[in-house]
Amino acid sequence: MNKLLPSLLLCFALSELSPAYVLEGGKLQSSPTNIQMKLSSTAGSLSNPPAFPLSDGSTSWEQVFTASANIWNAVMANMRLTTSPSPATNLGTQDGINEAYFGTSVGGFNLDSNTLGLTAFYSDGTTIFEADIAFNSNYPWNSYRGPLLSNGVFDFRRVAIHEIGHVLGLDDINGTNPPAIMDLVVSNIDTLTADDIAGGQFLYGAVAKIAGEADIENPGFVQSREAQSRIGLDGNLRVLYNIFSAPGATGYSGSTLWILDGNGRFRASGTPQIPASTGFGSALNGKPDSLVKGQASGNTTVAFLFPGRTSFGIWTYNLAGALISAAIYGPYANTLIQDIRFSPAGKMIVVWSSAAFGGTANAAWTLNEFGGIETIAGPFGPYAGTVLGKVNLGPDNLQRWFWNSPPIDVAPGPTPSTLAIWSLNASGQVTSAVQY
Ligand SMILES: [Zn+2]
Repeated sequence: MNKLLPSLLLCFALSELSPAYVLEGGKLQSSPTNIQMKLSSTAGSLSNPPAFPLSDGSTSWEQVFTASANIWNAVMANMRLTTSPSPATNLGTQDGINEAYFGTSVGGFNLDSNTLGLTAFYSDGTTIFEADIAFNSNYPWNSYRGPLLSNGVFDFRRVAIHEIGHVLGLDDINGTNPPAIMDLVVSNIDTLTADDIAGGQFLYGAVAKIAGEADIENPGFVQSREAQSRIGLDGNLRVLYNIFSAPGATGYSGSTLWILDGNGRFRASGTPQIPASTGFGSALNGKPDSLVKGQASGNTTVAFLFPGRTSFGIWTYNLAGALISAAIYGPYANTLIQDIRFSPAGKMIVVWSSAAFGGTANAAWTLNEFGGIETIAGPFGPYAGTVLGKVNLGPDNLQRWFWNSPPIDVAPGPTPSTLAIWSLNASGQVTSAVQY
């Protein structure tokens, strides 16, 4: 028997206390689970549309919603939410499609004047087989961190994180101690708390145990290995440790990020929730220095690959070591990641190579420090007898592509080679090509 349960995020105060997360009773059964975003297509109904970029630099509602899903993805071992944009059709009906959109009703329920977001989910008790999220189009929205704005503009991101919690199977808490984003009432809590993470991990398993600073200081209990340390663009030093469960053990069990000032004094630490199955460090084409980057903003960006080189993650931590954004891209059919690196200016570049073309057709993405895609170049090729050597992103944020013919990886030696260097502008278009 199917049933429809509404869950409300209200903006009035309640005082009842609840000790911990509450379960809806069901959970999603298959991973990945996709949510179709009909946000831009319904943003026209907003009574107070904001200007873009939003306050936190986001350039679309989809970007914010996807980042909110990835905040959950970062802590769950056995569930991965994906998102895709989609035109608006049959919004908020039971149609087998998970949706997120701006509107005033969902599943036959109207969003009243106290309701910021409403998730209607359809379950048979143990299985949630569909969930639709409506964000109240009568409210003014933006995307920001920290305390709620006093002017009544609400943070779309923290409400999205809350509603996505409902999609996963977590219920509202009426007044929370410990605090939680799953509180019925929107508050200054702007991301997952330990209680929310515990709820998500109860349903979908915990990512690898994360060792903390104390573990590093007690090498008798935990063996750690410095992956890299880098002075960031803000002058602070980052040290990224890989943690191993016992001296001599090879099993990776988590990471710790230290943020030190320019004199090496401890400022903060973070715990990158990097799945143990990732090819941490060595899989990044032998470039472990491309894993962590201290940004001019004070944020730290950490990147990692999943096994098979078909997908990657990019996490961003603030100066206090707290996770503020997380994004996962891929896998894409017949496509492998050839390289990931950070530019001197702090942008990440990801080179995708088409397995179907023997690795000779290539595309490159540049991403900002929050994991948002800024430019896509290519795909270029395949070109006979030619392979892509590497792609660099200069401090000017212009790309240089180095093509080798014959492929030097295939035929090293005295054979005269041709080297072609392309320059690409910030839109990913080739502006010059020089051959030697
Ligand atoms: Zn709720």
